[in-house]
This record gives sequence, structure tokens and C-alpha cells, in this order.
Amino acid sequence: MEVHRQKCQNCESLEHNNLIVRQPGKPQTILVRCAKCQDLVAAYQLDTYYHHGKGFESWLANLKAHRESGRDLMKEFQETQQRNLKLYKDVLETLHSEGKD
Ligand SMILES: [Zn+2]
Repeated sequence: MEVHRQKCQNCESLEHNNLIVRQPGKPQTILVRCAKCQDLVAAYQLDTYYHHGKGFESWLANLKAHRESGRDLMKEFQETQQRNLKLYKDVLETLHSEGKD
């Protein structure tokens, strides 16, 4: 696993805000804004989005915006939740072990 903390290219700050952009028919986009100098740091286009703590309804609304599925959606939500919690834990451990936290 390779993990990086994103830095502002302009001022090297590690403090950012995420601006979530939703437009009909387009992939959801996350704009990362520097919290210090307000520069755009990065943009991500997503086909899936998991917001921890928002619950099943929020996750389902996002999923439905992108596709229909015959799968057991509650099971898929729980798998997504567990996968992202595990990834978050792994990323924090990796940052810590590399002295980046
Ligand atoms: Zn900055």
C-alpha cells in the first residue's frame, strides 16, 4: 500500500476542505480546496461515494444516482462501510508508521 497526505502545491498546507459537486448526468466531483490559501489542490471524479456516519439512506441515494442493482443493497452498504473503515484504519496506521501523521 502506498499512502500520501495531500499537500497544497501553493503553500504546502495539509489542511483542506472538500467541495462536493453533484450535477445531473455527470460523475460526482470532489474539489479539494486549501483551507489556508484557498487554492484548488485537486479534483476527483467519483463513481462511488461513501460518507461515513451518514447511514444507509444517504449511501443508497448516491448509489441510485449511478446505477440500479439487484443486489442486496443493505448487505452491500454494510460491506462498503466495513471496507472503508478498514481502509481508513490501514491508512492511519501507514501514515503513523511512516511518521506522517
Ligand atoms: Zn494553500
